[in-house]
Amino acid sequence: MTDQVLDSLNMGIVIIDRDYRISLWNNWMEMYSHLKKKDMEGFDLFSRFPELETAHFIRSCQAVFRFGNYVFFSQKLHNHLFPFQATGIYGDYFDYMQQSCTMTPIRTDGEINRIIIMVQDVTENVYLERKLRDLTQQDGLTGIHNRRYLDKRLSEEFTRFKRRGSLFSLLIFDIDDFKKVNDTYGHQFGDRILINLAGLCSTVIRGSDIIARYGGEEFCLILSDTAGWGAQAFAERLRRLVETQTVRYGNEEVNVTISIGIAEISESIGEIGELLKKADEAMYRAKETGKNRVCLYGDDSREA
Ligand code: GH3
Ligand code: MG
Ligand code: MG
Repeated sequence: MTDQVLDSLNMGIVIIDRDYRISLWNNWMEMYSHLKKKDMEGFDLFSRFPELETAHFIRSCQAVFRFGNYVFFSQKLHNHLFPFQATGIYGDYFDYMQQSCTMTPIRTDGEINRIIIMVQDVTENVYLERKLRDLTQQDGLTGIHNRRYLDKRLSEEFTRFKRRGSLFSLLIFDIDDFKKVNDTYGHQFGDRILINLAGLCSTVIRGSDIIARYGGEEFCLILSDTAGWGAQAFAERLRRLVETQTVRYGNEEVNVTISIGIAEISESIGEIGELLKKADEAMYRAKETGKNRVCLYGDDSREA
């Protein structure tokens, strides 16, 4: 009767004794391990799953045997206890089924001589959690990060700078005369330009840099460990690259240009909003002085 109940549960149930010998291996465990009850029950758990024989797992079992503790193996810390393949579409995202496991004592005549391990497949939850996180940090049109994510990362970079002096620069750029592009070729084509530009930027930045769509046709770039002069050289390369990129509209080759403003983080900046403001001011200077150019905040001689 009890075995039938345990076999019908939509979770893994394993019972082991003090010698780590398996006394119960339910249907669920059979299904995902591809190992039959008869090949498991009565055998040493570690002979079947040598990867489980870790100091952490043994310590956890001992805590249950000795003190009757409930031990939880969180997915966030361990990903899984039993290395089962992720099933269905999740196989594309995870190497292994994501598991939350709990170990609890079984008492007979007041003595703990067995442990029940309950294994829950939480792969779908983890997948949805990650998807949701990505969606809230992603720009719907271009697929790059959105403003919310940028603001969060800027705060983190700012904290890193205050604590460890890790330098970084912020770039803001805006497409020149984009209204004209929309008016001439239509809004949909304008969208294609935005998508192309986002893709281009993503391919030229380093892994530690961050690109985000800040609003309409405005983008931001965080260049980590980069001083203003370095950011300026990068921005100039980017400006020229954008200028030469074309997008086809019928027989026509269309290109856009961008104006870039740069601000370097410094001790005088009390809050991160000031850095954004400086980069924005530099960008407007670039617009005012002719567009399709780069301006570094505080570097008036080069902006002239
Ligand atoms: P400037 O050189 O001074 O930046 O001129 P501009 O025409 O680019 O600037 P303005 O701010 O006047 O216009 C920005 C335009 O960008 C207006 C708006 O229709 C367009 N835009 C904003 N977001 C999107 C979008 O998601 N898709 C498309 N196609 N256009 C957008
Ligand atoms: Mg514009
Ligand atoms: Mg604009």
